[in-house]
Amino acid sequence: MTKRDPQGLTPLADVDPEVFALIRREEKAESETVRLIASENYASRAVLEATASVLTNKYSEGYPGKRYYEGQKQIDEIEELARARMKTVFGAEHVNVQPYSGSPANLAVYLAFVKPGETIMGLGLPAGGHLTHGWNVSITGKFFNSVPYGVRQDDHRIDMDQVRDLARQHRPKLIWCGTTAYPRTIDFAAFRTIADEVGAILAADIAHIAGLVAGGVHPSPIGIADVVTMTTHKTFRGPRGAAILCKSQHASAIDRAVFPGLQGGPHNATTAAIAVAAGEAQQPSFKEYAARIVENARALGAALEAKGFRLITGGTDNHLLLVDMTPKGIGGKPYARALDRAGIVANYNAIPFDPRKPMDPSGVRLGTPAIASRGMGPAEMERIAAWMAEVAENPQDEARLDRIAGEVKELCQAFPAPGIIL
Ligand SMILES: *Cc1c(COP(=O)(O)O)cnc(C)c1O
Repeated sequence: MTKRDPQGLTPLADVDPEVFALIRREEKAESETVRLIASENYASRAVLEATASVLTNKYSEGYPGKRYYEGQKQIDEIEELARARMKTVFGAEHVNVQPYSGSPANLAVYLAFVKPGETIMGLGLPAGGHLTHGWNVSITGKFFNSVPYGVRQDDHRIDMDQVRDLARQHRPKLIWCGTTAYPRTIDFAAFRTIADEVGAILAADIAHIAGLVAGGVHPSPIGIADVVTMTTHKTFRGPRGAAILCKSQHASAIDRAVFPGLQGGPHNATTAAIAVAAGEAQQPSFKEYAARIVENARALGAALEAKGFRLITGGTDNHLLLVDMTPKGIGGKPYARALDRAGIVANYNAIPFDPRKPMDPSGVRLGTPAIASRGMGPAEMERIAAWMAEVAENPQDEARLDRIAGEVKELCQAFPAPGIIL
């Protein structure tokens, strides 16, 4: 029974012990495991505080200075601050910070530039592309004529010859570049040349690599692509949200597509947290963090290869590794499950030209953003690779998996998880 509490000041632990306990358990899990989900991270306490603020109470349809509601003084300043900081971090002419997440941001790009039934191109999902780049189960594959491109058979790199051939043949209105499970650098300039040749809008989706771009360890598409979309919660390490960066000439088309095209009121607490994250991204420590992500991915890849793992494309340029488990004689799904039991969290993932089914594919995807945020380095990557090899050889040995989970927990205690007070 909850007590009378007209001021709503009773702490969560007392109002709802059930939800409170689940969040506490999640905090413990995130603290005590090695998290290798390539899209995940640890937001700072500052970002979490802004996210959990009274800004969640506000409605503010419109943009700073042009709202449909009164009482916007603070909200306008917060959104201006978020936009200004994001412009500085990425060197963009215009920024919209209102999209609810990466997928709605991408829908805004469609709404701004393409009509239903028109042709678009993007990297196919099985090759490492995102659902929203025109894959058939997504609205973007149903409402538009989607022509997916892929990676080469031999080296699993994006096949720019195929991109050019398909673009010449199909004359798309919009070309997406950007990936969700691809371990190599994106050649934005090469995409620009092709887009120019066929008169297409070039959209770069840097959802995964925004933090790497901000930290200067991946080339930036700003000034090359017409429009750039990003999530704010992956390598960028902010709240769950998104931003669209574009040239001034596209500013009003993008803004109108987000509101009133797709959304109502923006999530102002998220906007404030984006401002905080963009402030953090301007600190010298963010550059170090970004460099550590890439250094760790290379170190983890090299250590895994030395233990007989097969890396798609033979390595990585960014924050992630795609591992073909075939030589280890185990599917990606049972392997990811065994890793989880051992305190190492990753996701099973299809590999290019995967002979197995999407729900039971050959690979796992590993990312280093979260462990880089904890401050782990190459020495820790060696230990993680050794555990991963042991799990691959003994996926059913529960006693062994539990022993490893204990060792993982011990390692994690030496590298406290940012943002979590245990
Ligand atoms: C994660 C991701 C998205 C979607 O982001 P959500 O916030 O999950 O909707 C879009 N594009 C790419 C390339 C992504 O990796």
